[in-house]
Amino acid sequence: MDSKQIIAQADGALMPTYAHFHAAIVSGKGATLTGADGQTYIDFTSGIGVNSLGYGDADWAQAIADQAGRLQHISNLYYAPSMAAFAEKITRRTGFERVFLCNSGAEANECAVKTARKYAYDHRGAGHSTVITLINSFHGRSMVTLTATGQEALHPECFAPYNPGFKYVPAGDMAALEAAADDTVCAVMIEPIQGEGGVMPMDAEYVRQVRRLCDERRLLMIFDEVQTGVGRTGKLYAWEHYGVRPDILTSAKGIGNGLPMGLCLAKEAVGAGMTAGMHGSTFGGNPVACAGACVVIDKIDDVLLADITRKGSYLREQISGMKHVKEVRGMGMMLGIVLDGLDAKAIAAKCVEKGLLILTAKTLLRLLPPLVITDGEIDRGLEILKNVLEEE
Ligand SMILES: *Cc1c(COP(=O)(O)O)cnc(C)c1O
Repeated sequence: MDSKQIIAQADGALMPTYAHFHAAIVSGKGATLTGADGQTYIDFTSGIGVNSLGYGDADWAQAIADQAGRLQHISNLYYAPSMAAFAEKITRRTGFERVFLCNSGAEANECAVKTARKYAYDHRGAGHSTVITLINSFHGRSMVTLTATGQEALHPECFAPYNPGFKYVPAGDMAALEAAADDTVCAVMIEPIQGEGGVMPMDAEYVRQVRRLCDERRLLMIFDEVQTGVGRTGKLYAWEHYGVRPDILTSAKGIGNGLPMGLCLAKEAVGAGMTAGMHGSTFGGNPVACAGACVVIDKIDDVLLADITRKGSYLREQISGMKHVKEVRGMGMMLGIVLDGLDAKAIAAKCVEKGLLILTAKTLLRLLPPLVITDGEIDRGLEILKNVLEEE
């Protein structure tokens, strides 16, 4: 089938929840994709920060194929070797003692909220259930994580009622946070770099002050690293840039390299409270996803992390010099491009036509390339972006 037929077939059946670009993708290698009509695309998106190892990674494909042929699922009533291996690996690498395995970022954040409330209940009694999040944040699309998301535009009346138990404060405003952090609060949840909100890195001093306030008032600090995690910013997790360790950390997107996976990490005293029956997930810890995630974690070593930092600086430098670019911000290979008034969505659509997949966030262009993208692929993608911008 050609792309027109694929698009018509999908549009005839899907709920119209997405404004798709006009592209149907059939295969990929590295950070280069092939469309249904035989055209080539450079991928600056990883499918929204998911395909860390790009396309066709032989070790990952072998690991999941082997696991699928042996045992695809067994449920959390039993143990599976790849699940055990991944749980040990991720806790060792991050220094958190406990992990809950699930299937998406929203589920990881649901677990974080429950874990924080349980900890407050066990240690302070009832009545400390409010979670403070930041204005402009994004935490997911389930009702709880949508409520946690501090964006009015994502809270239309049609989905009401939203959940009680959330409060919002502006990022960087310690006075507002101190005022909001009353006795009903159990946790503060932040993204170290707001992704969907427009690639907004948190100020380091602010993050340190949030940690101090959490310690003073016995609140847990939750980092939503669903987008910033798994090497994206040049560290395994972005909290390492800040020198401030959260009590709970959530991860998803890049950890599965395309298979659905999410996780909620917690330090021992916090994770230990989530006892048998408190939480669960049918697919969580799926052996196939875990076998693949073990490969992902092993490949994100110091050499790759340094390369992500190098490639990120190069992208930033090259893009900063392009026509219509006002600012490039972000960390590592999580970058936002502020344009001088051009419509980012229209620019992204033009890039797709010319063979470059690129994301937007609010009014910005956004880049989340596969972590393994080559210098040659980067240059080909930059060439397309430069040409599209120069034509405006
Ligand atoms: C994408 C994202 C989520 C939601 O993840 P899903 O897997 O789509 O549920 C949550 N938080 C952040 C920071 C994200 O970028």
